[in-house]
Amino acid sequence: MLTRVWGYDAFRGQQAEVIDTVVGGRDALVLMPTGGGKSLCYQVPALVREGTGVVISPLIALMHDQVDALEQLGVRAAFLNSTQTAEERRAVERGLLAGELDLLYLAPERLPAVAGLLDRARIALFAVDEAHCVAQWGHDFRPDYLGLTLLHERWPGIPRIALTATATAQTREEIVRNLRLEDARVFVSSFDRPNIQYRVGPKQDARRQLLELVRTEHEGEAGIVYCLSRASVERTAQWLAAQGVPALPYHAGLPAELRRHHQARFLREDGVVMVATIAFGMGIDKPDVRFVAHLDLPKSIEGYYQETGRAGRDGLPSTAWLAYGLQDVVQQRRMIEDGEGDRQRKRAQTLHLDAMLALCETVQCRRQQLLRYFGEESGPCGNCDTCLSPPESFDGTVPAQKLMSTIVRLARERGQQFGAGHLVDILLGRRTERVVRMGHDELTTFGIGTELSEAQWRGVVRQLLAQGLLQVQGGYGVLALTDAAGEVLRGQQEVRLRRETEREPSPRRPRAG
Ligand code: ADP
Ligand code: ZN
Repeated sequence: MLTRVWGYDAFRGQQAEVIDTVVGGRDALVLMPTGGGKSLCYQVPALVREGTGVVISPLIALMHDQVDALEQLGVRAAFLNSTQTAEERRAVERGLLAGELDLLYLAPERLPAVAGLLDRARIALFAVDEAHCVAQWGHDFRPDYLGLTLLHERWPGIPRIALTATATAQTREEIVRNLRLEDARVFVSSFDRPNIQYRVGPKQDARRQLLELVRTEHEGEAGIVYCLSRASVERTAQWLAAQGVPALPYHAGLPAELRRHHQARFLREDGVVMVATIAFGMGIDKPDVRFVAHLDLPKSIEGYYQETGRAGRDGLPSTAWLAYGLQDVVQQRRMIEDGEGDRQRKRAQTLHLDAMLALCETVQCRRQQLLRYFGEESGPCGNCDTCLSPPESFDGTVPAQKLMSTIVRLARERGQQFGAGHLVDILLGRRTERVVRMGHDELTTFGIGTELSEAQWRGVVRQLLAQGLLQVQGGYGVLALTDAAGEVLRGQQEVRLRRETEREPSPRRPRAG
């Protein structure tokens, strides 16, 4: 089937084992990185087994392309989702009942409506794609996925295969529980993407830093640039284009026609840089994306891993580059605070953000930390910024104490809110209008921090946040001490800090082998 339909010579990784399991009628849970070849794990069994393989997928926008691609291989495929007319849906339903479909893609919210139809059809298997969406604790929860327990309850004899590219141990447990996959065979591939070089640096002038990356390392190559907001997507794309980089914007607020057009150009032309919100990328199969750049801090490690995973699917050297600053942390906290969801949800989002922050501020190998997050142990990789230019660390206890005692003093002024900028002004002894008006030039900590530059102080704040010694209170970037800070203030605990260089670490090629 693999050679006849797809023209490939051999299965990759665990594909053959997964396929045997499902063809044999057993359930499977497959954790494989993006680009690992998950689709074949259910497509081949769907063709081998009698009946139609029903694929539950949240990626409605991609169903059309997925079905087109399968049809070009001679596979009989169709989809059912809310973008179709009643008539189109009826035609698909007729095909299903007549046994003329190998694969049927289904949006999760349509399942209740088509359950009666599926009863009358012959079903080869159920595949649940992007299975992490069923985890409430995860980063991409979709309530409709909870309804997928119906698959097991209503059609207990039909094998189910759940697939995802991101799952911590906790998310994995939730997938098993919520999809009733207790008897499934679990396949975990390594999440390592050795050809991707991970780099994280402080944000100064993000667009210029990005332009330098493109010019010095990725001139004329395809890349994806992620921004948090639609407005910054458009501004960045315009600015890059003005600098001669063939950049296109992509976000959910653009007309569907334009989005399709930009996506098609990105896929077909060489060297297009897509500037996008995270609305772009899921399911995009472009092998030669040479870099993924984040101009804003991702919300979670899962998101970061998934987004950077779009680089280098062809296995050739690629760059994952991230610039972030204190403002990102403040902004993200505010978004969590002001966002929807109950307290538990917000707590989960906060923990996700904290883990991401810790990854950014680590002095250890980034890959090691990334893989550990997904439950995989490994040694230092030699192909990330901290391995290539190990950050110098220093005893930062005294600077931390200076910063903390300034925060303590300001906290006594009720009704006033001071962010990091004001703190740094005080430590550097700057008589700004606000400092003078508030009488903060009278504080004992005024001007006691001139041994560090402003950028270095901001680095101290970020690192103390990442180490859980400071927290951002409310949505306005007000800094407060955590309980753990007491020991540092009393001199009972040392703080190790990374020395901030004024520039981000200069890129170097990975060593051979
Ligand atoms: P995932 O869904 O895990 O991100 P895909 O299923 O889209 O990955 O596969 C990634 C790419 O690898 C696709 O272009 C696919 O055709 C290709 N591929 C998958 N399995 C094989 C194989 N056994 N041999 C050759 N190419 C493969
Ligand atoms: Zn490393």
